[in-house]
Amino acid sequence: MVENLRANIEALGGEIRFGQRVDDLLIEADAQGARRVRGVRLASGEELRSDHVVLALGHSARDTFEMLHARGVYVEAKPFSIGFRIEHPQSLIDQARFGPQAGHPILGAADYKLVHHGKDGRSVYSFCMCPGGTVVAATSEPGRVVTNGMSQYSRNERNANAALVCDIRPADYAPYGEGPLAGIALQRHWEANAFRMGGGDYSAPGQRVGDFLAGRPTRAFGDVQPSYQPGVQLTDLSTALPDYAVAAIRAAIPTFDRQIRGYALPDAMLTGVETRTSSPVRIRRNDDDLQSLNTHGLYPAGEGAGYAGGILSAAVDGIRVAEAVALAITGERAISL
Ligand SMILES: Cc1cc2nc3c(=O)[nH]c(=O)nc-3n(C[C@H](O)[C@H](O)[C@H](O)COP(=O)(O)OP(=O)(O)OC[C@H]3O[C@@H](n4cnc5c(N)ncnc54)[C@H](O)[C@@H]3O)c2cc1C
Repeated sequence: MVENLRANIEALGGEIRFGQRVDDLLIEADAQGARRVRGVRLASGEELRSDHVVLALGHSARDTFEMLHARGVYVEAKPFSIGFRIEHPQSLIDQARFGPQAGHPILGAADYKLVHHGKDGRSVYSFCMCPGGTVVAATSEPGRVVTNGMSQYSRNERNANAALVCDIRPADYAPYGEGPLAGIALQRHWEANAFRMGGGDYSAPGQRVGDFLAGRPTRAFGDVQPSYQPGVQLTDLSTALPDYAVAAIRAAIPTFDRQIRGYALPDAMLTGVETRTSSPVRIRRNDDDLQSLNTHGLYPAGEGAGYAGGILSAAVDGIRVAEAVALAITGERAISL
């Protein structure tokens, strides 16, 4: 798909610049004194002039979020979620979901979606469930550890994994920093803490679920071997996230066990930390023309702008933004793809 998209863009006269970073925005005041984008400056120093700039940065472009904030582009803190990855034998999930039909080739590897609403108003939910998949390293900065997950097309690895995450809001970011980028400060704090707890070699800190629920450190692996590479350092995850998140996840696991028998399996493995569930910031835009609230011609798009979470919603947002740009340039609402 991506190759075809690229060929299409080039056939229509577009150009793809690989390995080049946008370091700055060119912003000028127009005749009415309003802020208007006039292009971008690349790390090479080259300037690309345009009155329409789409910013589709992804949720980890921290350097660019900082640049936008410093340039006065309207950015605000946004809620997101933090937690751990949990791994079970895929056969346990298949058995709980498919019963006697578990293992039937037509059914493949089972998935699940779980949510628990705690008494304190915090929700814990499963996110990015990966049947027959692996837990993967997803940090974008040195000295930090972040988990994520993925399945190959075959979905035939030994473990099922999912993120178990707790929702957090801008009010929770105050201990870590001020202003719209405080959520990034919170992420960095816990990602650096996970790096230290993992032993400082990019191993992830991990714990057996039974020990996590009992509040004691894990000394040895049980029957579930975690898939994270380069490895997992056994520890006590009760200090790996804020207390309220640890408490919420501890309360949720036994309730999930009532929906998926065996979910609280003592040997199931937790690894962490999962901090990149969606963007910690929103680059606010007008509802009608999808341009930045205070910088004309700038179109924040996709997950990094805070308007999508996941591949499909980011792609749909991209189409909406493309239509908004076409409308601004040509006055035509519909574009043909
Ligand atoms: C391991 C893993 C597994 C995932 N699995 C799933 C899944 O199964 N299903 C699902 O829906 N989602 C999944 N996701 C999430 C999904 O990848 C994102 O939601 C999606 O890619 C967001 O799309 P986007 O276009 O907004 O941003 P991205 O795909 O992140 O693209 C942003 C691009 O902007 C570039 N960029 C950033 N700053 C600059 C700059 N200053 N100059 C130039 N370029 C810049 C980045 O390099 C990147 O190429 C997964 C993510 C990970 C990491």
